[in-house]
Amino acid sequence: MEEILELRHISYSYHTMDGETPALADISFSMKEGEFVAVVGPSGCGKSTLLSLISGLLEPAAGQIRIRGRDSKESATNIGYMLQHDQLFEWRTIYNNVILGLEVQHMLTAKARQKAHELLDTYGLAQFENARPSQLSGGMRQRAALVRTLVLEPDLLLLDEPFSALDYQTRLRVGDDIGQIIRREKKTAILVTHDLSEAVSLADRVIILGPRPASIIQTVPLIFGAGADTPLGRRDAPEFKTYFNLIWKELNSNE
Ligand code: ADP
Repeated sequence: MEEILELRHISYSYHTMDGETPALADISFSMKEGEFVAVVGPSGCGKSTLLSLISGLLEPAAGQIRIRGRDSKESATNIGYMLQHDQLFEWRTIYNNVILGLEVQHMLTAKARQKAHELLDTYGLAQFENARPSQLSGGMRQRAALVRTLVLEPDLLLLDEPFSALDYQTRLRVGDDIGQIIRREKKTAILVTHDLSEAVSLADRVIILGPRPASIIQTVPLIFGAGADTPLGRRDAPEFKTYFNLIWKELNSNE
């Protein structure tokens, strides 16, 4: 499969009145189309910074980010970002929230509207098109936020702790649900999370970052036997505990 993203020796520091805060040190990895990578690491190690660099919100101090073989600044690749809070606007209906990005980017064609309706229908939100965000459960709101991202047809999805505002029960269900939608839509995704079980249940590969300034301490490919082909299925599989413990130990030995 085609390589979509390549990070070569990326470093980044924040500069404030108090001085310099090195956040990332010499990060290199690449991703193929359709891959789902989870990034875990201690709080404050630089995970969100990594996503901001990939999305182009920040520029690396050193190194290079290539998207589909081109420097990220020249790339026309569409990147979708999903954050901890769903950022749905209460003064807009669910449908109008979903098409907001299309409006802003002047992409609100008849075809795009059709796609928005289709996605809302596929993911069980058709009857809520005219509802306000507050009328939906936390899980449905996250689905709506994902549909709003997917309707822009992103080539690469960046997920920054998208489930951490939800209570534990909902979080398990919604995490698994959103993970399956991303698989079904064959999206390439990077999930930043501090929840190891979320990472192990969803990803093809887990990148473990060390304390700030973060560098990659290990990359763990996740291989599950037949039958464990959904996030919930994985949680019941014997490999789940093995991977969880391996990543847990690796993280703790570097704290
Ligand atoms: P994580 O996502 O792993 O919790 P972040 O990438 O948010 O970590 O932050 C990494 C480090 O950079 C933290 O120590 C944080 O305090 C610092 N940092 C983040 N954003 C800024 C900023 N805008 N200015 C200065 N320091 C920042």
